[in-house]
Amino acid sequence: MGFLYANIIVDIAHEKVDRPFQYKIPDALQTILRVGMAVIIPFGKGNRKRVGYVVELTNKAEYDPDKLKEIDEIKTGGVAVEEHLIRLAAWMKEQYGSTMITALKTVLPVKQTYKAKEKRTVRLLLPKEEAQARRWEFARKHNVARERLLAELIQEGELPYELITGKLNVTAKTIQALQEQGILAIDTKSYYRNPVTLQASVDEKKTLSEEQEAIVTDVLSSYREGRPGVSLLHGITGSGKTEVYMELIAGMVAQGKQAIVLIPEIALTYQTLLRFYKRFGDRVSVMNSKLSQGEKYDQCERAKKGEIDIIIGPRSALFTPFPNLGLIIIDEEHESSYKSESMPKYHAREVAIELASYHGACVVLGSATPSIEAYYHANNGHYKLFRLTKRLTGGVLPDVYTIDLREELREGNRSIFSRKLQELIQDRLEKKEQIMLFLNRRGYAGFVSCRACGHVLKCPHCDVSLSEHRNGKMICHYCGYEERKASLCPSCGSKFILGFKAGTQQIEDVLHTQFPQAKVLRMDADTTKSKDSYEEILSAFSNKEADILVGTQMIVKGHDFPDVTLVGILAADLSLSANDYRAGERTFQLLTQAAGRAGRGSKAGEVVIQTYQPEHYSIIQAAKQDYEAFYEEEMMYRDLLLYPPAAHMMSLLVISRTEETGAKLADRLAACMKSYMIEKKAVIIGPAPASIGKINDMYRHVIYVKHKEYAVLTQMKDRLEEWIEQMELKNEAVQFDFNPMNTY
Ligand code: ADP
Ligand code: ZN
Ligand code: ZN
Repeated sequence: MGFLYANIIVDIAHEKVDRPFQYKIPDALQTILRVGMAVIIPFGKGNRKRVGYVVELTNKAEYDPDKLKEIDEIKTGGVAVEEHLIRLAAWMKEQYGSTMITALKTVLPVKQTYKAKEKRTVRLLLPKEEAQARRWEFARKHNVARERLLAELIQEGELPYELITGKLNVTAKTIQALQEQGILAIDTKSYYRNPVTLQASVDEKKTLSEEQEAIVTDVLSSYREGRPGVSLLHGITGSGKTEVYMELIAGMVAQGKQAIVLIPEIALTYQTLLRFYKRFGDRVSVMNSKLSQGEKYDQCERAKKGEIDIIIGPRSALFTPFPNLGLIIIDEEHESSYKSESMPKYHAREVAIELASYHGACVVLGSATPSIEAYYHANNGHYKLFRLTKRLTGGVLPDVYTIDLREELREGNRSIFSRKLQELIQDRLEKKEQIMLFLNRRGYAGFVSCRACGHVLKCPHCDVSLSEHRNGKMICHYCGYEERKASLCPSCGSKFILGFKAGTQQIEDVLHTQFPQAKVLRMDADTTKSKDSYEEILSAFSNKEADILVGTQMIVKGHDFPDVTLVGILAADLSLSANDYRAGERTFQLLTQAAGRAGRGSKAGEVVIQTYQPEHYSIIQAAKQDYEAFYEEEMMYRDLLLYPPAAHMMSLLVISRTEETGAKLADRLAACMKSYMIEKKAVIIGPAPASIGKINDMYRHVIYVKHKEYAVLTQMKDRLEEWIEQMELKNEAVQFDFNPMNTY
């Protein structure tokens, strides 16, 4: 006996219809309809056919059953959402603010089923002697193609269909003829698309160090005793974290459980994956943005059916539908790419912990520079803290010099390289050792301005300056707008209009004049546009095709370069000047990671940090590589100013077609919030235009609220959502962001 009614979320992303609607289940569907299925329903006054997702089955009618509409059918080719994931979507909607359907679609990696791929093989049916006889018969009749095919089949027994039609040049018609004569059979086997094309496993298991062993034992025994929990693994790169992950996974797989491994998309390199494949063979698969929809679909099917135990991927790999999830690992947990930039703006760490609680699974976070949040929870005892203190790859921590750029200027050095750095670059070039130069910002800050009047050329659609590129064009990096570089100033008509070259390009140019013998590679948003260029540049550098690698954030991750003995950080404080409560944290992380690239091999390394703020604690502690000391100071600052994790923060971004309506709406929302928040003693900041006031012709205003309790903020959000629904906005939209990674 099935259920009579189904509560259904309609596939329309609008606040007005953002609730379940009840439908009658027709008799024919009563025993087959399941929670999570996609169905076709008549909706609204005109009974238009819409897609919906069943979120609940019940025998209790919420309205007069005679007035309920009936479900038409189960959507053919629709993908069902697993029940755990529906629960997770509901939690995300509540926690982060979005419509239920948007949340459902976030947890559904593919929306449509894809036909399985098929593989055909041709098999000889006759005994060998008999086949030989037929073969001579064909030869006599000059049936060359038939003779050729039979000769091969006698030798091989069976052959892939494509090989016969391809390399053997036998037509499909000929194969069919032989099939009809009962000489051969065509077998069709369906299989899943497998993005992993590496060979089977070679067990690479290492004997764990005592430190590593202790962690593995602790996590696995807590799991077995029914206390899965969250663990934070604090250990520098090369301290053996990945080895611990693999041992934990092996422990889970041995108990019939599955594991999800999240790594930042940029670190999803061949090298990383290879390590997992070597250990776990074809029980591992990968999920990333390069996969086709069909490939993604098949990975979900393989996960559901138990064909794989481990999935590796970025944020969205969390939603792989494993039936018996035992472990979620988040490597480099401090990375900002774990936070989604579209609604619902969820953080993978929080979602992982929620999802793990449904399965009774463990969560393991790993980082050399943990996020302040994670470390805070570890300090409070919410997470278990483990440390890995030794670098297993050898090499010692590098010597670090902090150079005050103001002093350089006072002493007459106008170069972008301090004297110390110049001296060390020269030294390394002579010794034929490698150098990495790191610029702490995206490479394309090259804006164009007029020397006569100071006018800066801006994108007509966004509130940002255009950047000059080598091809004589000016480009907006927010919306892609392009124009030819102006020859006269549009404001005063002067011809002294000048581009300030993008940071990394400028460094490359200076290197060419100052060190003409050096071979330089550059890595930034411009040089890594094509799909494989990132890997190509890194492997060229790794093969010692260049002496110096210049780049942005990107170069601090990925490969290990044992011959790099000098790292220069050219302007350490550019990320501090950003008006952002996470600026100190980000600077510390970047500097520590960049510095950690020196001296990985047998030769000792040196690091030069150039800065205008040598007294800033994030720079001082990064130079000392002292995470604890940094954490203490950073937490003091956040406590004082009530920033996360000392308190919680909700931001409201109002996006509008015109500036006035946006400002007005932001004012109204802020007033509503203030009346509600006074009794709750929350801190409200704004409304104010966002720091980038316009993107893509849409204006942006922002309001922040801070409170110690997350629940107070979600209640506020629920209220606001109701107000917003009643306002029936047409030209404005409001987005929530909890504990944002960047201020707006
Ligand atoms: P992390 O993930 O912290 O960067 P890895 O797990 O990649 O560290 O380990 C760094 C290097 O040390 C790797 O080459 C790895 O193979 C090696 N390694 C890790 N654990 C051991 C061990 N117990 N015995 C020998 N080598 C190890
Ligand atoms: Zn633009
Ligand atoms: Zn001008």
